[in-house]
Amino acid sequence: MKDAFKEHIAWTSDDPIGWSVDRADGPFIYLTDGRRIIDFISGIAVSSIGHRHPRVIKAIEEQISKHLHVMVYGEFVQAPQVRFAERLASVLPERLQVTYFTMTGTEANEGALKMAKKYTGRTRMIAFDRSYHGDTHGSLSVTGREEYRRPFEPLLPDVTLLPFDDVAALDAIDDATACVITEPIQGEAGIRVPSKKWLKALRVRCDETGALLIFDEIQTGFGRTGALFAFQRFGVTPDILTLAKAMGGGMPLGAFVSRKDVFSVLREDPPLSHVTTFGGHPVSCAAALAALDVLVEEKLAARALVVEARIRTALSFSDVTEIRGMGCMLGLELSDAACAKRVVRRCMENGVLLGWTLHSDRLIRLAPPLNIPFDTLDAALHIIAVALKAG
Ligand code: PLP
Repeated sequence: MKDAFKEHIAWTSDDPIGWSVDRADGPFIYLTDGRRIIDFISGIAVSSIGHRHPRVIKAIEEQISKHLHVMVYGEFVQAPQVRFAERLASVLPERLQVTYFTMTGTEANEGALKMAKKYTGRTRMIAFDRSYHGDTHGSLSVTGREEYRRPFEPLLPDVTLLPFDDVAALDAIDDATACVITEPIQGEAGIRVPSKKWLKALRVRCDETGALLIFDEIQTGFGRTGALFAFQRFGVTPDILTLAKAMGGGMPLGAFVSRKDVFSVLREDPPLSHVTTFGGHPVSCAAALAALDVLVEEKLAARALVVEARIRTALSFSDVTEIRGMGCMLGLELSDAACAKRVVRRCMENGVLLGWTLHSDRLIRLAPPLNIPFDTLDAALHIIAVALKAG
């Protein structure tokens, strides 16, 4: 199997983890060599309710006994899509009541950017330094890391990158601006939490200029930060919300959510100006509905805060420069990158999967499932603490 992995799977780096997966359940990944790993990154913020939650599996089984793909997105009334969109609307505010489903996060951002341009009739897009919005051309154009952008230039024109969490810089948003896109907490930048003041000022500036405010909650959404959505923690509602990752309960699903009048531009002049074959796959939507029910009924957003408190208590010692983040979206910043690398490797050897973030090499990513059992959490924290002390 490993030889075929080397020969026939396209790698994304020269140094993949290379573990061979047998199965996964709850907070655990089981490897073919018999090892059981505590998943402390949730497939990068995907398995927030653990792997293969029984209610998600049941919903998938029920749906596959009815139908898989039947038609491109938006033509047929497909019950799993409609039910999930309705349920999503029930947990979102008035200006976020209509959902367009995609397969992935980057596609959700692509749709949001296109819709904002068409709705406003403007072309300028504003994003922030060290942001990450995905790897297709449009999303990459609003991603704020020069070394990831440069090899693929020219990207989209008329994009301005501003410093993150800088109120004065928001004056650059003007009445030629179609949209401003930001993560409410930057994930790949190294879990950067902005001030409430900045996000509120951003909302005000967008209202003053008529620019649409897009929050990319692909990583922060679905309970991870201690509220169902991070925007609720800051008290700032976007015009467009983009979602993916944990939404599908382990199945691929993305979405952009907004108001009916904003969405109207995608259905006219010309009609079908933004379509997708697989967006809102019925099996993914059935899984997503079950996952959201679990999240709400088991109050897992609130539980994320309990997990956070336990992590902060267990890992607050001098070798850690800072613990940043909210809920189960945390980063441990160490003094140097080599040390962060050693600690992650040591934890992985001892059965705890941790990770890095794309744009910050001194930071160790902690993103356990929100429902990780406390004995498993404590076992993982013990292994991490020992690795940190060894330096
Ligand atoms: N936006 C954010 C904030 C992300 O963290 C990611 C993925 O990590 C994406 C967008 C891209 O999502 P996807 O990999 O599903 O395209």
